[in-house]
Amino acid sequence: MAIRKVYLDNAATTYVSNEVLTEMLPVFNTVYGNSSSLHGFGREAGALLEKARERVAKAINADPSEIYFTSGGTEANNWALKGVANANKAKGNKIITSQIEHHSVLETCKHLESKGFKVVYLPVDETGLVSIADLLHHLDDKTVMISVMAANNEIGTIQNLQTIAKIAHEKGVIFHTDAVQAIGAISIDVKQMDIDMLSLSGHKIYGPKGAGALYIKKGIKIDNLIIGGNQERGKRGGTVNVAGAVGLGKAIEIAVRDISINSKKLKTMREYFVSEITKEISDIQINGHLIQRLPGLVNVSFHFIEGESLLLLLDLNGIGVSTGSACSSGTLEQSHVLKATGLDPEFAQGSIRFSFGKSTTKDEVDYVIDVLKKQVKKLRDISPLTAKKSK
Ligand SMILES: *Cc1c(COP(=O)(O)O)cnc(C)c1O
Repeated sequence: MAIRKVYLDNAATTYVSNEVLTEMLPVFNTVYGNSSSLHGFGREAGALLEKARERVAKAINADPSEIYFTSGGTEANNWALKGVANANKAKGNKIITSQIEHHSVLETCKHLESKGFKVVYLPVDETGLVSIADLLHHLDDKTVMISVMAANNEIGTIQNLQTIAKIAHEKGVIFHTDAVQAIGAISIDVKQMDIDMLSLSGHKIYGPKGAGALYIKKGIKIDNLIIGGNQERGKRGGTVNVAGAVGLGKAIEIAVRDISINSKKLKTMREYFVSEITKEISDIQINGHLIQRLPGLVNVSFHFIEGESLLLLLDLNGIGVSTGSACSSGTLEQSHVLKATGLDPEFAQGSIRFSFGKSTTKDEVDYVIDVLKKQVKKLRDISPLTAKKSK
């Protein structure tokens, strides 16, 4: 009997939608020119590239000249942080970020610390919201940049970006946000929200992997990322991945076009899932902010069991999810996000992230609830933690 397959890991990656694929395909073998070439073949590819740039710009209300294509969100975040830190040394050496950023921000900050920069990692409250009081406390004349993500990839909490941007600009500090998870879930207008730099990725929004972009507001001082070519106005050299850019452009256009219909659908699905598992399974806890959050993502702690074990049992039943804890070299390392929210480490270990997609059906959700009920019970029956905790 074939195992049923249900994908609930859309925060890790999504499939490429047909609309996106249709626009990308000709770029591989028909409109294959080098977008920098001067002849007709090149100009044709160049025109597609610029159309993609316009689409990305329009989606966030930026100017096309402020969009730089990258290989994804990780590269965009690396560039934003290193590029601004290195270009603004004359002003200061301090960067403020949060404890719950994506690894591509946190590890880049650690790297910058090793090069002599000072980084403040703002704490968050139990819902995952960054402490504004701590931000105000640490902001000073040496601060060159604040980088706080728009929406968190593990627990879904959406930050108060406008408040943070306002505080940054009162001090003349550059404000960057990682909007990889937020785009398509909340409307983003970089002008209205006063955002200076913003990172994007294609593969979380039904676009291709290896394609992303960094929005850099005109006038921001930033070092070039890749030297040796005048592509991307000399800031990011190398023959451009035109197919990737075209895919990102189409994907973001659709994400913004369908924002309300998708958000409503995902929210309904998440709420149904949460209400059912709350009814059917005892001793669980929903992590993150209950209202100010991504519509299609929920992080659940199943008390008395290990998330990794549950993940494997779900996988045996064809269900793809991810854990809050990453298993590295045989030791269970606690999620830095759940830790920052102050979650009891024992509960954090039993955490699973379910992220729904625009094609997820109610029938699939019912199947997952059914499997969860059985597998959680199975694990609890053999768990030493259950024996210890319950009377
Ligand atoms: C996935 C993700 C990234 C990394 O993007 P890639 O395109 O995979 O490099 C960065 N930030 C957040 C919040 C993400 O979810």
